[in-house]
This record gives sequence, structure tokens and C-alpha cells, in this order.
Amino acid sequence: MSKNAFVVLDNIGKRWKGQLGVEHISLEIEEGEFVALLGPSGCGKSTTLRLLAGLEVPDEGRIIIDGTDVTSMPAAKRNLSMVFQSYALFPHLSVAENVMFGMKVRRVPKKERLEKMQNALDITGLHGLEDRKPSALSGGQRQRVALARAIVAGRKLCLMDEPLSNLDAKLRNAVRKDIKKLQSDLGMTIVYVTHDQTEAMSMADKVVLMKDGRIEQVGSPEQLYSEPTTTFVAEFVGAPPMALIQGAALDGFTHLQTIGVRAEKIRVATNNHRMTCTVTDCEFLGAETFIGLAHEQANGLTLKLDGKADMKIGMQVKITFDDQDLHVFDPAGQRVDPR
Ligand code: ADP
Ligand code: MG
Repeated sequence: MSKNAFVVLDNIGKRWKGQLGVEHISLEIEEGEFVALLGPSGCGKSTTLRLLAGLEVPDEGRIIIDGTDVTSMPAAKRNLSMVFQSYALFPHLSVAENVMFGMKVRRVPKKERLEKMQNALDITGLHGLEDRKPSALSGGQRQRVALARAIVAGRKLCLMDEPLSNLDAKLRNAVRKDIKKLQSDLGMTIVYVTHDQTEAMSMADKVVLMKDGRIEQVGSPEQLYSEPTTTFVAEFVGAPPMALIQGAALDGFTHLQTIGVRAEKIRVATNNHRMTCTVTDCEFLGAETFIGLAHEQANGLTLKLDGKADMKIGMQVKITFDDQDLHVFDPAGQRVDPR
């Protein structure tokens, strides 16, 4: 592993009284990169972020930030900012005071404080709300204050732990774009924890998918989508997830193999079919309709049709797909390449 990246996690492990947090976490992050730590609840995302932040000390491994070994350095010295799910705003301070708090502690001159605060409110669209208390703000506005605070800190590295999970879907979308824009405008390096694959896939340059305290796969969103290294990745990434079929159900494959196929690669068979399925549900989404299909030897089969499509629940559908669009996994769920 090269040790020249902006952030290096080198074989990090953390346990509490024998209980696993994370193990064998090795990861490199380039300056200016947007990295998402993705995975189901309890897989070790927050632990990894807290270790990086200095809120926890690893039992093993090293952490390097910007060329400095920070493994045993306290959080305050690591030169980074953090944004959490709970906004952690001071309820008795106004928006402006909340944003300037850290600078005040660091004795930044008042003129500079005010300038930086105004600039951050500009960027986050909070102008006019300077004097409000957090209790008089919406959830989205509070999260923007937390973002503004991270911006004025002016740190190159910003760590975010599920910052949008308290917001409703529409707002989440809007703030997601704000964060992404901020990151590219300011050239920040962001490590962003989320359990939401859509969030990770739409925002990140690099996605780190975790499972049971370990890294399962690291790659660009396209790589995770089009070349999942395990069945776990195949089922975690993408909406709908990749369908998994027992090899025995398909000509040309064996019972030892598991075959994956994406919804957009499945079509209704006009002559030769590969499987006969039963329609279980019809989900109309506007531009397309997802048809859920059941088959004894498959999981998660979905047919994606343009526009509004009606298929009666319980009806039989013959489907097919091309060999070149199939992903093959061994009995341990590992990708077999080339197949
Ligand atoms: P995630 O953020 O992915 O949901 P966490 O990193 O919070 O997961 O937790 C990973 C594992 O470590 C979980 O099994 C959790 O119970 C455990 N864990 C986290 N923090 C502590 C702690 N302070 N003491 C004991 N176990 C912990
Ligand atoms: Mg967490």
C-alpha cells in the first residue's frame, strides 16, 4: 500500500472488551475525494469515522492524515471538522453565534469571524436567519447551520456521520446536492457515513462498502454496481438490488454457482425463455414500472418496463437475459472472474 495518500488507514482494528467494532480496515483517501462509508447498521461505519476523528483509539494499525501519523493524537489536533446526524447546535446561541463559536474559541479576530460567517451563510443559503435560535429553524436549516460551521472551520478534511437522516426525503435530496456542490467548490475531502446506498452512489467518488466490521469492497459507484465482488455487494447496491438465481435453474450453469442479473437486463421472452416466473407485484414509478417476479430458485427478480405497465398479480411471465449480462458467484458468494 502506498503511504502517500492524503488519508491512510493502515490495518485498523478496534474492540471493546472482546466485542468487535472493526478489523483489518485499510483504506486510502486522496485529497479532494468524496468517500462514502456504506453498509447496514452495526457494520462499523461510525466506529471507522470515530477512529479517524480521534474520538476512539485503535487497538491496532496506524492512521495518517496529510503525512502525519495521528494514531494517538487527540481529536482537537487532527485539523478536521465533523458534522453529525444530531446537529449538535447550542440551543441558546443564534445561528450566527453557532457558526462563529469555534472561531471565537480559537480567538480569531472579530472582523474575520464576521466575514467568514457571512460567507458560510451565503454558501449554505442561510442569509436572513442570523439571529434565529435553532429551535426556530427547520431540520434542513439546522443541518445547514452545522454545515456552515464545518465550512468556517476551513479544514481540509470533513467527516460526516449520517448528516441527512433526520430530514424528510425531499429535503434530503436538496441538502445532498448542497453538500456535493460545497465539496467540489471548496475542494474539501469528505468522508461520509451512510446506510443509504442511493446517497452513497449519488454523492461519492469512492464507495467503501462494509460488512461485519470489515471492508467488503472499495470502488467507484459504477464499479460496485457493474462489478460487485460478492453477492453481498450485489444485493446491497442498486435499486432494485441485483437478482440472484441458483445456477441449477439455468441451462449452462451448475448448482454450485449463483447467478446475478440486474433488472434492466431482464426482458420478457418473445421466443426462447430461460425462466418462467409469477408476478408478485407491480410498482408504478412514473417513467417506469417495476414488476416483482417470484421463482422458487431465485431471489429479487424484477422486470423493469418503460412507462405504465400493467401485469396481473399471479400471472405467469417467461423471461430471458443474455449471458454477457450475468454475474457469476461461487458457493462462498465470491465473484468468479472470468467466468
Ligand atoms: P454503524 O455505524 O455501521 O451502524 P458502529 O460503528 O456504530 O456501526 O458499530 C459497529 C459495532 O461496534 C457494533 O456491533 C456496535 O455495537 C459496536 N460498538 C460501537 N461502539 C461501541 C462501544 N462504545 N462499546 C461497545 N461496542 C460498540
Ligand atoms: Mg453509525
